[in-house]
Amino acid sequence: MARTPYMAGNWKMHKTVSEARVLASELVSELSGASAKLMIAPPFTALSAVSQVVSDSPIRLGAQNMAPEESGAHTGEVSVAMLADVGVEVVILGHSERRHVYGETDELINRKVKLALAHEMEVILCVGETLEEREGDRAETVVQEQLAAGLDGVGEDQLSLVTIAYEPVWAIGTGRTATPEDADAIHQIIRNRFSTMYSAQAAENMVIQYGGSVKPNNIVGLMAKGNIDGALVGGASLKAETFVPIATYDRT
Ligand code: PEP
Repeated sequence: MARTPYMAGNWKMHKTVSEARVLASELVSELSGASAKLMIAPPFTALSAVSQVVSDSPIRLGAQNMAPEESGAHTGEVSVAMLADVGVEVVILGHSERRHVYGETDELINRKVKLALAHEMEVILCVGETLEEREGDRAETVVQEQLAAGLDGVGEDQLSLVTIAYEPVWAIGTGRTATPEDADAIHQIIRNRFSTMYSAQAAENMVIQYGGSVKPNNIVGLMAKGNIDGALVGGASLKAETFVPIATYDRT
């Protein structure tokens, strides 16, 4: 069965509530006929407002992070139940900014992944190597290790709730994109890894997004590759004029 393309926007720490409402409204009106699966992840403060805008639209609501605990004395954290309560269906976990700026380890990310899945929250698990790791010929190893550790204890029956985003750290927010060939090669390695960790069917079904300076002018080349099933978009998801052409790339 062909994999459905999946385009997701990570708004990071941008947009006040009113700005978020405006952008979400523009996306709802411009993407009503899109064939790809769509998701936007506003900051926590705008989730509730955006939830109202995207309800009854094909755009799913995502969060950018989640606490590794159910509830309790965890100052500053947001729980999976709180996210579900405002209509969040998807959570981005293991983003490179969480790993490298805020020191999140594979072990912590794995706890979050398992907790989200236990609550039937969809997960986009981000993996990707730094420039130093790529130049040291370690990209494949790093990505495979992040995948194995991030999905430790996750059963094949839960994989329908999992999407992988391959985001080479050196390509995020830098304007440098991996070539479609380089990205596809790592996506193939990720897919093969699902074969060894789970089954050939799991590998075939897994949706693998590319992320790292995706723009309207490079999405078509990326999506032409057999192992690239969508995009996790940062900067270009902040304006309808750049996110809409990505989300509707097949009609551009
Ligand atoms: C991201 O943050 O996931 C990302 C890919 O950012 P950008 O598109 O800005 O490189």
